[in-house]
Amino acid sequence: MRVRFWGTRGSIPVALTAADIRDKLARALVAASGRRFGSYGEAYAFAEESLPFSVTHSFGGHTSCVEFETGHEEYFVCDMGSGARAFGEHVLARQAGRPATVNVFMSHVHWDHIMGFPFFGPAYVPGTRLRIYGCHDILEQAFRLQQSPPCFPVSFEQLEATIEFVKLASGHPFEVSGLRVTPQLQRHSGDSYGYRFEIGGRSIVYSTDSEHKLEERAQTEAIVGFFRDADLVIFDAMYSLAEAISVKEDWGHSSNVVGVELCQLARVKHLVLFHHEPANSDAAIETALRDAQRLEELTRGKHALRVSAAHDGLEIEL
Ligand SMILES: [Zn+2]
Ligand SMILES: [Zn+2]
Repeated sequence: MRVRFWGTRGSIPVALTAADIRDKLARALVAASGRRFGSYGEAYAFAEESLPFSVTHSFGGHTSCVEFETGHEEYFVCDMGSGARAFGEHVLARQAGRPATVNVFMSHVHWDHIMGFPFFGPAYVPGTRLRIYGCHDILEQAFRLQQSPPCFPVSFEQLEATIEFVKLASGHPFEVSGLRVTPQLQRHSGDSYGYRFEIGGRSIVYSTDSEHKLEERAQTEAIVGFFRDADLVIFDAMYSLAEAISVKEDWGHSSNVVGVELCQLARVKHLVLFHHEPANSDAAIETALRDAQRLEELTRGKHALRVSAAHDGLEIEL
């Protein structure tokens, strides 16, 4: 299974500003001072090998959209944030004119998780089949409302694809095209649902927009059971721990520290920090990642946990 991250930012899309780009350039020049590069290739290799991720990359600006490639000809994706536009281009290029079947699993219908759908190219292609799965009663209404006047010029009825909404229930596993899927209720304003995907002995959990109060044992046990022994957990780490337990308590999101603790309890193999705070710079997200990695090292038991931060364009092979 291959996981592709098309959108990793929380709440609202962001773009690098001119000041951000100047800052990255200046930091690269300082790091390279005193060196001579004979070719573009030498300079490229230096950038790749010697500069920090936050200088050479960006954690990306699109809101939530994560694809799971299973080897089946159908597509599987979580959430339709603004990353869905780029995901749609990928689908259209790969299909080369053949209509696609896309299975969409919705965590919830907050705007940052549906805003990419009106720009999802395959929805405009006759013959495309879209199955939109979710646990909320208002799932279909939210998609239709977003494309109603005066908010958007193309109405939902004008989309050419065949679109089916499928209601799921928390804790009830089901199978779709070879993929076993289990939804899990999460604490968030208006509720959100995580999904555990299992295929060929591999398991991945997509768990965004979820607040955890570790002192509440029943809820913590439910989440640890949901994460249990997963190969990969994609986790809402929007805030720092200090923010999550003080000013931003009850805002419905979690932290890098809580992600490490829950994944250690559940013996997860790889934690990916996700749904980055839009106000945070690449350097701030890199610091949150390093803090999480350091915490994991200091508190490691028998099982090592790998910790990464998601960025738009990241691919993980399992
Ligand atoms: Zn969100
Ligand atoms: Zn939300």
